[in-house]
Amino acid sequence: MGETARTVRTTCPYCGTGCGVKARVAPDGSVSIEGDPDHPANFGRLCVKGAALGETLGIEGRLLHPEIGGRRASWDEALDLVAARFAATIAEHGPDSVALYLSGQILTEDYYIANKLMKGFIGTANIDTNSRLCMASSVAGHKRAFGTDTVPNAYEDLEKADLVVLVGSNLAWCHPILFQRLSAAKADRPGLTVVTVDPRRTATSEISDLHLGLAPGSDVALFAGLLRHLEANGRRDADFVGRHTSGLDAALAAAEPWTVAAVATTTGLDEAAVAHFYALFAAIERVVTVYSQGVNQSSAGTDKVNAILNCHLLTGRIGREGSGPFSVTGQPNAMGGREVGGLANQLACHMEIADPAHRALVQAFWQAPRMAERPGLKAVELFEAVAQGRVKAVWIMGTNPVDSLPDADAVRTALAACPFVVVSDVMRTTDTTALAHVLLPAQAWSEKDGTVTNSERRISRQRAFRAPPGEARPDWWALAAVARRLGFGAAFSHESAAEIFAEHAALSGRENGGTRDFDISALAGIDRAGYDALAPFQWPWRAGEAATAEAKRFFANGRFYTSDGRARLVPTPFRAPAATVSEAFPFVLNTGRVRDQWHTMTRTGVAPRLSQHIAEPYVELAPEDAGALGIAPAALVSVTSPRGLIVARALVTERQRRGSVFVPIHWTDQFAGNARVDALVAPVTDPLSGQPELKASVARVAPWPAT
Ligand code: SF4
Repeated sequence: MGETARTVRTTCPYCGTGCGVKARVAPDGSVSIEGDPDHPANFGRLCVKGAALGETLGIEGRLLHPEIGGRRASWDEALDLVAARFAATIAEHGPDSVALYLSGQILTEDYYIANKLMKGFIGTANIDTNSRLCMASSVAGHKRAFGTDTVPNAYEDLEKADLVVLVGSNLAWCHPILFQRLSAAKADRPGLTVVTVDPRRTATSEISDLHLGLAPGSDVALFAGLLRHLEANGRRDADFVGRHTSGLDAALAAAEPWTVAAVATTTGLDEAAVAHFYALFAAIERVVTVYSQGVNQSSAGTDKVNAILNCHLLTGRIGREGSGPFSVTGQPNAMGGREVGGLANQLACHMEIADPAHRALVQAFWQAPRMAERPGLKAVELFEAVAQGRVKAVWIMGTNPVDSLPDADAVRTALAACPFVVVSDVMRTTDTTALAHVLLPAQAWSEKDGTVTNSERRISRQRAFRAPPGEARPDWWALAAVARRLGFGAAFSHESAAEIFAEHAALSGRENGGTRDFDISALAGIDRAGYDALAPFQWPWRAGEAATAEAKRFFANGRFYTSDGRARLVPTPFRAPAATVSEAFPFVLNTGRVRDQWHTMTRTGVAPRLSQHIAEPYVELAPEDAGALGIAPAALVSVTSPRGLIVARALVTERQRRGSVFVPIHWTDQFAGNARVDALVAPVTDPLSGQPELKASVARVAPWPAT
C-alpha cells in the first residue's frame, strides 16, 4: 500500500489572533494549508497571510549550519565558544554585562529556558524581547489597575457586545480574522455599533458607525473626558465601584479639566463627535474597548491604557459577557512570553522579580544558585547599554533589532562595536545576522514544536510537520546546551518541549501569595502523549478542574489581584508626545503594519502573492499636504527626521490626517533600498512600560530627488 497524506493541526505563526491551521502533508512532501474548523480562534477561517503559509516553506536563504566569523562550524564548536565567551565576560564584568534579546515569534518553551538560565542561574534580568515594542504598556496598565497582567476577555465578547470601540487598532489589517468575526457579527446584528478611534482612517474604519480621527497621542484626553462624562451623567456602577475598586476620587480629579470643549480642542475633534461618542458609551451597557499599538506604542502608553480601564471600572463593565477592556497583542506569542517572564521586569508565571517572596519561590522551584534580584534592561535600554559598553555579550534570538528598534542606525553601530554577538535565526542574511560573531541555525514554523498563547489567553500547540533542514535546532535546545556548558546541567536536562511545558505548568501551580492569575497546574507533569494531543485551551486551567471549551473571563467575581483585592482607578494626567512638530520637522510620523506582510518580511517576503496587495514601501499623506509640497501621487519622496532620511513613493489619500504621514515598518535594505523607517524614530519610551514611541516622531517630507 502506498503512503497517504497526513494532517497536522498547528497554529499560525503571525499575529496575536492565533488561528488554528491544518497542514496536510502529501507523500511527496508538498504541503497544503487550511484553517482548522475546530480551533476556537478562527473556526476554519484564515487570512491571506495564513493561507499563504505553504508558500513560505522553501529553504532558500535559510541558515543551515552554525557559523563562527562567517565560516561553517559544528554545533559543539559554536556552543563551546558561546559558553566560553559568556563565562569569561561574566567572570570579568559581572552577570549584568551579558544580555539576551528574544522575540514574540519564539515559543513559550524557548522563552522559559532562556528566562530560567538568565534570571536563575546567570543571575541577571538583562533579558527582554521585541514584545516590549508590542504590548508592554498594556502589561504595565493591567498591573496598575488589576495587580496582575491579566487580559479579562475572550474573542466571543466582540461578537456579544453592543458597542465595540477600537482604539489605535487597525484590526482589519493587523488581526484580520478577529476583524472578520466582528464584521460578521455586525452583519448579523445591525444594532452592534462600532466606533474607531485612530488618527488615520483605515480599512477598519470602513465598518465603523463613527470614526474619531483624533490628533496623534491625544487618547488620554479623550478617555479622561469620557470618565468625567460618565460620572457626571450618573453612569457610575456604585455597587461595583464601592465594593471592588479604589482610587476613584483621584482619577476623577485628574479628569475634571476634560470638558467636551477641552477634549475637542486637544484632540482636534468636533465637539459634536466627542459628545456623540460619549453618549454612545454611556447609553450602551455591553461595551468592549479593543486597543493595540496606537495606544501601547507611546511615551504615555501606560496612561492611555489606564484611561481606558478607568472607564470600564467606573461602569463595572468588566468580567461580563460582551463587556470589558481588551488589549490585543501583535505577535503570535507575545502573551506566552509574558507568562514565563519574558520581560526584564518579570519572573515566570506572572510573578514579580521585585518581590522577594516570588524570587524565593522561583529559586526554590528551580533550585537556582544565583537569582537576579532586580529588574533588568528593557529593549531600548538594553541596546543603549550595548552602545555604552556596559553589555559586552548579547545573544539575539528570532528578531531583527537592526531594523525594528527605534534609532535603528544606532543599534547597528552598537552591535558592530559589541565584543560578542550571537544570533539565532532561521535566515542566513538579515541586517542583524550580518553583525554576529556566531550564528546558530534555528528551526522555523513547521519544524519546531511547542506552544503559543494568543490575545484571549488561549494556549495552542505549534506542531512540527516537516524535518528541519541542515542542522537547524530548537532555540530551547541551544540555550540548554549552553547552560550545561556553564555548569548548570542538572537544571537543563530537558529532552523535549513537552518536558519544559510540564515544568512550567508545575511552577504555575505554586502558591505565591495570592497573585496567581496565570495557572495551568492542571497540566503539571503532562507527559509526551498528553502534550502531543493538547487541544487549544484558555487559561487558567487549575489543578482539579475539568477541561472546558467555554470562554473564560476574569473578574466576574469582582476580585482583583491587588493587595486589597480591589481594582485601582488611576489618575491619568495628559502628556503630549515627546517630540513636537516645528518648522524644520512639520509632520508627525506614524509607523505600522500592512495587511499582507509580517515584520521585516523574512518569511512573507518570499511569497509572491503577498506582494500583490502592496508591493513596495510608501509614504501615505493627505492630498492637501501633497499639493502644498508639489508631490504627485506615486512620486518619490524623502522623509527626513532628526535621525536620518528614507525614500519611498507617495500614497496620497483622504485617509491620512493633514500634518501627519504614515510609513509601513516592513521594508528593509534587503527588500527596498533605504526604507528602514525605524531609523527615523527617536528612542523615546514610556517611563513605566519602556515601550517606545513608534507612532509620533517628527519629520519633514519633500520631493525626491531634491531639486
Ligand atoms: Fe494568522 Fe493572524 Fe491571519 Fe489568523 S489572522 S491567519 S493568526 S495572520
